Amino acid sequence: MRFFDAHLHADCRSSEEIETMALFGTEAAVTLAVGAGFSASASMLDYWDRLMRAEPRRAARYSLRLGTGLGLHPVTANGDYREALEDLPTWLALLGVVAMGELGLETGSAQEAALVQAQLTIAKQVGLPVVLHTPEENRLAVTHQLLEIVGQAALAPAVVLVDHVAEDTFETVRASGCWIGLTVHPRSLTPQRAALLLERYGPERVMLSSDVGRDPADLWSLPRTALECRRLGLGEVAQPAFYDNACNFYGFDGPRW
Ligand SMILES: [Zn+2]
Repeated sequence: MRFFDAHLHADCRSSEEIETMALFGTEAAVTLAVGAGFSASASMLDYWDRLMRAEPRRAARYSLRLGTGLGLHPVTANGDYREALEDLPTWLALLGVVAMGELGLETGSAQEAALVQAQLTIAKQVGLPVVLHTPEENRLAVTHQLLEIVGQAALAPAVVLVDHVAEDTFETVRASGCWIGLTVHPRSLTPQRAALLLERYGPERVMLSSDVGRDPADLWSLPRTALECRRLGLGEVAQPAFYDNACNFYGFDGPRW
């Protein structure tokens, strides 16, 4: 099975871990910005610089092609990142930046909503796909709030991936026309639950990811989910969710990569 991990944080992981992911068949991935723990735009810009320059080079040593997503995560919503926000369009124009993300809502506060609105305006101008975070707590209500903001921004659903979808939000996100991100992570879905969602709904507009980052996660979440799909007798039916859909969404093999 070929794997395209649609959402991870490569900067939080060792080279040995990146190599492990390549060894079990991860051919491509997108590393997204979070930027927790900074207090100024200058730090955020240094962080973006490292993400887009150092990480793809490191992954390339293991023949894993790594695209970069940049943006201001909801954890940064209470900080003063006006300068970073102003500079964001310039950064998004750089080669190797394949998406905006991760953006989104955690609590759904006014600050978070304003930050995501400002960035979706930029998304419309630059035409890059957008990866949106949804929370574990109060997921359905916050997902509705987020989709309303996407609607107000008049962003085409075809360029939006709503991530960390689970059983309670799957149908809502599917009805919106946006892409559906299933994150196989201890905080989100088990491989079994992700496979059952694929069995129930099929792989159309679904993308799998590990969200491997700073917190405890499972490097093997995609192959484990593939095994669960085999156990359910899905065969190759689920394959687009493991690879092809992410290629389409992120324009893999296009000029940005
Ligand atoms: Zn993440």
